[in-house]
Amino acid sequence: MDEKLILAKWVVPSAYEPPIKEGGVFIKKGVILDIGTKEQLINKYPNVEREVFENGILMPGLVNAHTHIPMSILRGLAEDLSLMTWLTQYIFPVEAKLKKEWVYWGSLLSLIEMIKSGITLFCDMYLFEEEVIKATEESGIKGLLGEGLFDFPSPSYGPLVKGLELTESLLRNFQNHPLIKIAVCPHTLYTCSPDTIKSCLKISERYGAKLHIHLSENQEEIKLIRERYGKNPIELLAEIGGVNENLIAVHGVKITPKEIELMSKAKSSFIHCPESNLKLGSGVAPIPEIIKAGINLALGTDGPASNNDLDMFSEMRTACLIQKGIKEDPTVITAKEVFYAATEGGSKALGFLDTGKLSLGYKADLAVIDLNNHSLQPDYNPLALIVYTAKAGCVSHLMVNGKWIMKNYQVLTVDEEKIREKIEKIKKEVLKIIS
Ligand SMILES: [Zn+2]
Repeated sequence: MDEKLILAKWVVPSAYEPPIKEGGVFIKKGVILDIGTKEQLINKYPNVEREVFENGILMPGLVNAHTHIPMSILRGLAEDLSLMTWLTQYIFPVEAKLKKEWVYWGSLLSLIEMIKSGITLFCDMYLFEEEVIKATEESGIKGLLGEGLFDFPSPSYGPLVKGLELTESLLRNFQNHPLIKIAVCPHTLYTCSPDTIKSCLKISERYGAKLHIHLSENQEEIKLIRERYGKNPIELLAEIGGVNENLIAVHGVKITPKEIELMSKAKSSFIHCPESNLKLGSGVAPIPEIIKAGINLALGTDGPASNNDLDMFSEMRTACLIQKGIKEDPTVITAKEVFYAATEGGSKALGFLDTGKLSLGYKADLAVIDLNNHSLQPDYNPLALIVYTAKAGCVSHLMVNGKWIMKNYQVLTVDEEKIREKIEKIKKEVLKIIS
């Protein structure tokens, strides 16, 4: 019958609904069809198979709304440098010689990390993205994925025209896929001309696809775009017609009040990557102002080489703490607002509208937090535990579309040992390039 009851000490259905003590969900064919207390559910479905987490929190899977997962092969390669030194002396030389199989194995390494961090959906832009797609399908979690597009030739697809063709063919091939959707991914406004952006917008419009782009990340970018075009990045994009409901604007550290208004009116989504912005010395995005303007907010880790992990729990905690610190006001942002961004806000931004909360008719994409972990006691407030205390290692189980991807901390879909071996080999090849 493909039916089951998942019961737990706590159910946190979404950011703004109260947690259910001794609760659960009824799942049929991968979809949540009922939610309530243990007692109600057992009375209603007495003969259905039960899985019980006596000391667990059942919560929606987390959404990592911006990353470059293959960059896990570059994690820790070079640190504490200026962005330009880091990029030109380390990252770009390796990426120029990037191999397809490195992208595949780096993706699998990151997918394991994300599964263990309770992530059921993520958004990625990189080179050789077809390898990311292949790895994601194998892992069993969901992705909005797209090939990074630049004006200059790419080591993956060659000239830009080929990249646009590749994006369109992926869009055609992945319509109605259970796990994968495709986005159009111009890298930035300093690596893509207005004409390139216009070509991307045509594709986005034709397929109703999301446009995933880095915008207003740091002061250097603002200076460059202002010198070139006489305006700020989001203003420029709006003028080209790119600020609309399909826009997924990543970073926005230097967004202006005028640009906040543009994004709010257009119902665009804003992706906040606080740890990457801090590590690269870019600054802190004005998140309370974004929330106040009613812009859909999501949260991402960015690539594992500039974070240096894919832990959405630590990202939620950082997102809260930095705002409270810089505004000198602990009420300026709440755990609920940040949990919303890491779940429903992310799903909405990525166009996966049937996931992101535990609710009737939604896909059974969920995580179980193991309260046997001593740092998670006592459990007065499960939401506060999720946002301020839990870490990636606290997730014991993960389910996507009603299917277990991880059980008792063991990832069921990919071979962890084989991935470890491959990454060791890739590390040696990368070191040869930069030595
Ligand atoms: Zn990025």
